[in-house]
Amino acid sequence: MPHVITQACCNDASCVFACPVNCIHPTPDEPDFATSEMLYIDPDACVDCGACVRACPVGAIVPHTKVAAEQLPFVEINRSYYPERPEGVKLPPTSKLAPVLPAAEVHKRGKHPLTVAIVGSGPAAMYAADELLTQPGVLVNMFEKLPTPYGLVRAGVAPDHQRTKLATRLFDEVAARRGFQFFLNVEVGKHLRHTDLLELHHAVLYASGALHDRRLEIDGMGLPGTGTATEIVGWYNGHPEFTDLPVDLSHERVVIVGNGNVALDVARILTSDPDKLARTDIADNALAALRDSAVQEVVIVARRGPVASAFTLPELVGLTQTSEVVLDAEDHARVRNDLATAEDNLTRQKLEVLAKLGDAAAPITRPRIRFAYELTPVRVLGEKRATAVEFSVTGTDQQRRIDAGLVLTSIGYHGTPVADLPFDEAAGVVPNDEGRVIDPATGQRVPGAYVSGWIKRGTNGFIGTNKSDSLKTIQTLAADYNAGLLSEPVGGPRAVARMVHAHQPDVIDAAGWKAIDKAEIARGEAQDRPRVKFTRVADMLDEVKDHSDVPLLQNLLSALRGR
Ligand code: NAP
Repeated sequence: MPHVITQACCNDASCVFACPVNCIHPTPDEPDFATSEMLYIDPDACVDCGACVRACPVGAIVPHTKVAAEQLPFVEINRSYYPERPEGVKLPPTSKLAPVLPAAEVHKRGKHPLTVAIVGSGPAAMYAADELLTQPGVLVNMFEKLPTPYGLVRAGVAPDHQRTKLATRLFDEVAARRGFQFFLNVEVGKHLRHTDLLELHHAVLYASGALHDRRLEIDGMGLPGTGTATEIVGWYNGHPEFTDLPVDLSHERVVIVGNGNVALDVARILTSDPDKLARTDIADNALAALRDSAVQEVVIVARRGPVASAFTLPELVGLTQTSEVVLDAEDHARVRNDLATAEDNLTRQKLEVLAKLGDAAAPITRPRIRFAYELTPVRVLGEKRATAVEFSVTGTDQQRRIDAGLVLTSIGYHGTPVADLPFDEAAGVVPNDEGRVIDPATGQRVPGAYVSGWIKRGTNGFIGTNKSDSLKTIQTLAADYNAGLLSEPVGGPRAVARMVHAHQPDVIDAAGWKAIDKAEIARGEAQDRPRVKFTRVADMLDEVKDHSDVPLLQNLLSALRGR
């Protein structure tokens, strides 16, 4: 079997288009692409050319001769996506290459080149910029609330998943292209309004994601010792808004409600050997707290059974390679029951991994993770702080209590309204048609407003899912521009810089970000780490002022121009 896709797969499908024999599926035009947990190489059709390896932005594809021991399960995971065939028989569609999605062609019109403001700088934003900048002359101005770009790749992906963070290499390339400008440390809705941006751009594309997690409305949530898994993610990733989060790890047990991939990330970090984490870009304050941690067990609790586990197979396999994961006897029995009736291949594989987990009755020898099933949270117990969670056995009136000093919910994200745009509260998205924002009151498009990523489609998919999603939005935007539906900006690129400086003098540009990036990497080199992050905005601004004269120069120019 020549090549294998492994855990870090980001689903951006660059490999699909690079493959000369169409042996990587599902392709973005196949029905299961949107829900697929990863992409898979057909072992019988692969011709071992390595084109996919070069195309993959996160280094997730390896030749079979270089599959590391912990990646071995992925050989079977890739193979099992394809139907059984007699040896040597290839799949019929191997002669049909995956159709390359057509680029969003922009036809020149008006005085100014197509100029687009993108709000947010995570994967959906960067893939949208990437697509726009394939067209000659197009200008992209990207606005980000934090002084650092790349959204969830920097602040969401777990520090021990450095391969996944390699996506930033692609984003760095996009940001270095002619026509691209960063306006970091600028919050749209606070420093600037939608109308400010629309005046100076043909279109404003919101790729601002889903900032908030869903809250569990049960008694006791809100007590000291309760919180959300996503706050912990921000805390260990050095997100400035979570640096001062009080995370008390002086207790033996943590309970996490919900068993999606975020819960797995948090449980893995809370139980990892701090010496291993010390080789990553984890925030220094979090590392120090983890070194002092008393946590011996993180219990990940789901309200439904094993068959409905929300985590993905690649993440489960990865977890079992790095962490000790156990099940109670009654949950082992549930897994066996579900296995007996499992219908689809993917579910069966997940259950087979669960069936091989150790027994929770065994003594705890190192911090471990326990999955618990069919428990519905009822209330958090405790007076001054959380001491336990009371659950009902789902569908019954039996009660279960799990003692814990830290109770986290990890029940998914919910989109947050975008200032000046309509919002569908129930779905947590900005109402849109193929990325074009629609006012539900009139059914008409909101002139010049577009969306991409989680705020467009809801909180699902992986980093690379945003590539085809953003391409579709850009196709819509380009079609509207070509049809003359977008208003001309009233000023050129300099007017944008002047307007931003007038509202936010501490704006950080690409040179400022490079100064922060370089300093973080240099701090990391001294400790053999990828980087040591700044976790406070003030420190980032100091670094920019010390090492970049560009914002200073721009401020000076703005002052000289009297604006
Ligand atoms: P998620 O996958 O949607 O999982 C949410 C979990 O919360 C489910 O177990 C769900 O159970 C449970 N839940 C929801 N409401 C509940 C309630 N009222 N009481 C108890 N449990 C409740 O959410 P997520 O983990 O935040 O992930 C969000 C997205 O990011 C996913 O698409 C995920 O794959 C992606 N992500 C990927 C990675 C990665 O690839 N490494 C890492 C992080 C996140 P039910 O199923 O019963 O509703």
